Amino acid sequence: MSTSVSTKQILAISDLAVSYGHIEAVKGINLTLNEGEITALVGANGAGKSTALLTISGLLKPTRGSIQFDGNELTKLSPHDIVRSGVVQVAEGRAILTTLTVAENLDLGSYARRDKSGVAHDLEWVYSLFPVLKQRANGLAGNLSGGEQQMLAIGRALMAKPRILLLDEPSMGLAPLIVQDIFRILKEINRTGLSILLVEQNVRQALRIAQRGYVIETGKIVLTDSGAALLHDPKVIEAYLGG
Ligand code: ATP
Repeated sequence: MSTSVSTKQILAISDLAVSYGHIEAVKGINLTLNEGEITALVGANGAGKSTALLTISGLLKPTRGSIQFDGNELTKLSPHDIVRSGVVQVAEGRAILTTLTVAENLDLGSYARRDKSGVAHDLEWVYSLFPVLKQRANGLAGNLSGGEQQMLAIGRALMAKPRILLLDEPSMGLAPLIVQDIFRILKEINRTGLSILLVEQNVRQALRIAQRGYVIETGKIVLTDSGAALLHDPKVIEAYLGG
């Protein structure tokens, strides 16, 4: 008897194309995210990763294609409704409010929620994931280090109670040890069942924690496999892992 693991697709992207004027940055990509998994979309600078993510978040509109989440066609929803439906992006460049305290930033993440006890519970969870945020709760977010600001950006997104967490280059500009820390915590977050779509130039770290990976080059998906298989793929090693 085979043990079947249920793999429900929580996000399904089909033939998605996105242009800036005459420049087609994403050229008809297909990508799926299974519920409870981490999918990594990796590739070089300018490959189209951020464009794809911004389109899922509704901040860019595609020229064609579909993004299905839980019976909703996301390309037809506003960014606000996409967040409300449970698809929440942690912004590149942190995008935290530096003149507010850490606690106020986290509070903002939960502004649309009415379940007070759930919010209090999630706040404790975020503080347990990132103890430094608890220590610095009443300090200004602007005084945090780059790594701590990235942690706060992730914490704030978690306070919105996402069903899918989207991350754009969480490793950007951070020292290797901090990057390892962030990726370890992403894995921990994923273990609670949260589905994650991770966009990264740090191909090695991303594929290490991802169940599935997609490699994008000049707007097209050129390879897809399990994260582990891609880590050992000669083409990936040569192009992205300094092999
Ligand atoms: P990065 O890691 O640098 O963000 P990326 O893989 O996320 O790279 P995108 O930012 O999605 O790549 O860019 C894909 C292509 O679209 C690139 O050729 C880029 O120059 C172009 N592009 C991105 N943003 C714009 C814009 N606002 N206007 C015009 N072209 C853009």
